Amino acid sequence: MRTSNFRVVPLKTEVVEAARRGAKSGASDHRAVAVDSPRGYPCRHCLRWAAIPPGNPYSETGPIFVHEQPCERYAATAEYPSDFRSGRVFRAYNSKYDMIDAKPVNGGEPETVIETLLQNPQAAFVDARSADRGCYTFRIERI
Ligand SMILES: [Zn+2]
Repeated sequence: MRTSNFRVVPLKTEVVEAARRGAKSGASDHRAVAVDSPRGYPCRHCLRWAAIPPGNPYSETGPIFVHEQPCERYAATAEYPSDFRSGRVFRAYNSKYDMIDAKPVNGGEPETVIETLLQNPQAAFVDARSADRGCYTFRIERI
């Protein structure tokens, strides 16, 4: 498996567990939703596919989907998650969270796109988002 000069940053387990508790307790801003597509919606914790309806395409505060049942936080952070080798776009942000660049994979390797974006010294981090709706999937930081 290819490794690189970056690491993948899945959602923290405590954030995910709080979301599951919120959904179970009926909090108005949390809910469990039924699956309607096998490749629609990745779990932001284990970085595996979960089929859950999409959120607001362009909102930075849109829904973050995680599996309803406990799952293991993605641990191979030096490796790009295999479920998302296609269908992602990468956006580079500066330390003020301004988007400064964006690139799709376009049939190449995601590692190459990420490395290119991180070559910009102004890039503080890169977010992987779905290429179709722009939903946040995971963050990438320099090691
Ligand atoms: Zn999961």
